[in-house]
Amino acid sequence: MSSNGHQWVYAFRDGDESMRNLLGGKGAGSAEMTTAGMPVPPGFTITTEACLAYFESNESFPEGLQSQIDAALIDIESQTGKNFGSSDNPLLVSVRSGARVSMPGMMDTVLNLGLNTQTMAGLTELTGDERFSKDAYRRFVQGFGSIVLGIDSRAFEAVIEAHKETVQKTEDPELTAEDWETVTAQFKDIIRRESGEVFPDDPREQLARAVQAVFKSWNGKRAIDYRNFHRLPHDWGTACNVQTMVFGNMGERSGTGVAFTRDPNDGNPVLYGEYLLNAQGEDVVAGVRTPQPISTLQNAMPSVYKEFQAYAEKLESHYTEMQDLEFTIEDGKLFMLQTRAGKRSPAAAIRIAVDLVNEGKITKETAVQRVEATQVDAMLHPRIDGTAKISPIAQGLNASPGAASGTVAFTADTAATRAENGDAVILVRPETSPDDFHGMAASQAILTSRGGATSHAAIVARQLGLPAVVGCENLLIDVSAGTFRVDGLEVSDGDVLTVDGSTGNVMLGEVPLIPGEVTPELEQLLEWADDIRRLETWANADTPVEAELARSYGAQGIGLCRTEHMFREGNRLPIVQDMILAETEEERRKSLTRLLPIQRDDFYGILKAMHDLPVVIRLLDPPLHEFLAGVENELADLEARDANAEDLALAQRKVTRANELHEANPMLGLRGCRLGLIYPEIYEMQVRAIIEAALQLKAEGVRARPEIMIPLVSHIAELKTVESGLRETAAAVQRDAGDEIEFKFGTMMEVPRACLTAGEISATAEFLSFGTNDLTQTTFGISRDDAEGRFLLRYVEDGILPENPFQVLDRAGVGALMEIAARAGRTARNDIEIGICGEHGGDPSSIEFCESIGLDYVSASPYRLPVSRIAAAHARLEQGFRDR
Ligand code: ADP
Ligand code: MG
Ligand code: MG
Repeated sequence: MSSNGHQWVYAFRDGDESMRNLLGGKGAGSAEMTTAGMPVPPGFTITTEACLAYFESNESFPEGLQSQIDAALIDIESQTGKNFGSSDNPLLVSVRSGARVSMPGMMDTVLNLGLNTQTMAGLTELTGDERFSKDAYRRFVQGFGSIVLGIDSRAFEAVIEAHKETVQKTEDPELTAEDWETVTAQFKDIIRRESGEVFPDDPREQLARAVQAVFKSWNGKRAIDYRNFHRLPHDWGTACNVQTMVFGNMGERSGTGVAFTRDPNDGNPVLYGEYLLNAQGEDVVAGVRTPQPISTLQNAMPSVYKEFQAYAEKLESHYTEMQDLEFTIEDGKLFMLQTRAGKRSPAAAIRIAVDLVNEGKITKETAVQRVEATQVDAMLHPRIDGTAKISPIAQGLNASPGAASGTVAFTADTAATRAENGDAVILVRPETSPDDFHGMAASQAILTSRGGATSHAAIVARQLGLPAVVGCENLLIDVSAGTFRVDGLEVSDGDVLTVDGSTGNVMLGEVPLIPGEVTPELEQLLEWADDIRRLETWANADTPVEAELARSYGAQGIGLCRTEHMFREGNRLPIVQDMILAETEEERRKSLTRLLPIQRDDFYGILKAMHDLPVVIRLLDPPLHEFLAGVENELADLEARDANAEDLALAQRKVTRANELHEANPMLGLRGCRLGLIYPEIYEMQVRAIIEAALQLKAEGVRARPEIMIPLVSHIAELKTVESGLRETAAAVQRDAGDEIEFKFGTMMEVPRACLTAGEISATAEFLSFGTNDLTQTTFGISRDDAEGRFLLRYVEDGILPENPFQVLDRAGVGALMEIAARAGRTARNDIEIGICGEHGGDPSSIEFCESIGLDYVSASPYRLPVSRIAAAHARLEQGFRDR
């Protein structure tokens, strides 16, 4: 085949798994099974390179392809003794797409290609069954018409229904050879009308057209959207497989089926699947007849079952991975049609990875690598009980993980109103817009019929942590009628629906859910991840309870403890307000003295919970007027109630002070270390409280490791001034106590200027912590609160930005600043500790970046820890490959 230039075509027996990029997944699998001696119907694969060359040469076959296809057909003919296009023992083939990884949007398989009136007669002669061959021809015209010629398949279904009505029959099997002949003729009429061309009768033309359609499907809209979402390259191309047909519909000694080598719902290591006797191809999944569980094949055809089971085991061991198999039995003889890594639920993915390690088939690294961070994420959300029998009414894009049940609402207002009454609601919309936000936030899950993974609905759902299924194109939603239809089923406002954002499935009614949890298998996998990762995983926590939780999820430190929460709670706010109202430093110190024991208790609790581990405590950050929020209402209330003069005067003073403190841009105003410079006594009190708490713990035999973080520094002079004052305080407190504790001073990197001067800053700071929420705001010059509700999501929808930079770290901008800072920081102080404490610390892509610039830890919400742990391990493995 390769004699004239480039080799575009490989017989199955000439390929193997190592050629996956060239042959695609399906082609490589067929080749591998063939060379392993399994019964695979003879066939050949047209390479992904041919697909790319087809596009390069303006959608025409590259030179040599047609002749190589012809030669490969002759090769099959000689293997099978059949003849392509001949009425004498005709060769029929299937044409199957198959990219490097299996992806939605690729062309569906065309079966029975090669049939026309003459070859059909040959098939009748061969099988002695006219009905069989007329039905086969009908299937082919229908498949070719819809798949290759792009005619709406409902038009064909309608013909069959109408014909059944005419002849007064209800089921397909009742239709005779004659019936199928009539139906096929009508199909051809439709095709002529819709496409303006006569149905191609020449098998060679049929084949060429089908191959081109496979190639074209690579650049279909769905396929492109899918690749964009999963960041797969567009220059892989798809391969095309041409394979001898075998027939599972030649009677009761024939059949077809699918099976997984393990249960894809829960990972249980048993053969799992279904088959149908006397059926072809997709009859099993089409749901026309109810398939039998694979275990019953053992009784129906014992030797076939035994043979299949042996292949299944062999293939799983060979690939050391759960396989998704397809087979057909033709007149008692088994044929293997497909092997590929099987899709599975997140729980099954984890169980299978752990089991394969325990069975000695894969390494711990491989197990960790195989489980995606999103699968771990899905385990932490409520999910559908793997043992529940579910029958989805529709499937869309799995845009945000987790599952939820609730009553259907078609408008954001209905959703919000019903949620207020305590109802669980599922918001169902064609698509969502910023006006729907209140209804989305009030819902348990979102379902849309339009839009992809970066649609408004998908982005907002991920941000809210709600399950979402989007782009569920089969839903015909009528918002004004308050109904949607799907495949003849009607669902109305108020009906109960379950949405599984991890799989994209939509079910009618309630489905048993399992709450999010770290299962023993997941814990095992995470421990293996811990052995691999270099990055430490810390958590953000403001209270001892959160700290305990973080520890139980495997936190190795607290990366951000925010003290302003402590200022707002309960009876503290009046003291804090007093402090803010104080007109002299002396008055202010009095209020601070009252706050001191309270803060000390806070720190005592959190440092104790995190004993032996570092706790980064951020000194007061927000502008003071935030503690005076709502004082106007307070004053109005008192006036309305005719309160006493003293209370009124106090309320009036608060309003006046709030007005004095008012800023046009508080985000860029008197906050962070600027506050600490103007009112040094506030930070002094906080540092005293921290050191005293640590000293107390030390006296009790507990090792406390506070790290004091000075926020929002942009200039070294700010840091130096604040830090030297606070160091004196810390020294004085220790001197008074006659004891010493270990602690650090450092700063939060949230302003570009700080990053660019990190060398200077690190001469003073013993640690740097990237506060990437603010750093993203200050780098982009975008205020998150103003942007996310309005233009920022549009940016993502329109592709101006690839992602919301507040969710996925912007490597080119924010990341570049971090890299500069990390490098300069280490040069200035080689044992400097550098981490990240923004929300990005829990995002896999951002974690990968943190690994690549050599940070020491990532810190995010305690609930993200399992995701951070696996993502950090993935990042390490990736980095390892890059270093090698
Ligand atoms: P998918 O990626 O959708 O599984 P396939 O090509 O594997 O696409 O399958 C489509 C259906 O057609 C499957 O049931 C498969 O077993 C069947 N099929 C594909 N090729 C042949 C063939 N040569 N003979 C019989 N059935 C086939
Ligand atoms: Mg298949
Ligand atoms: Mg900040």
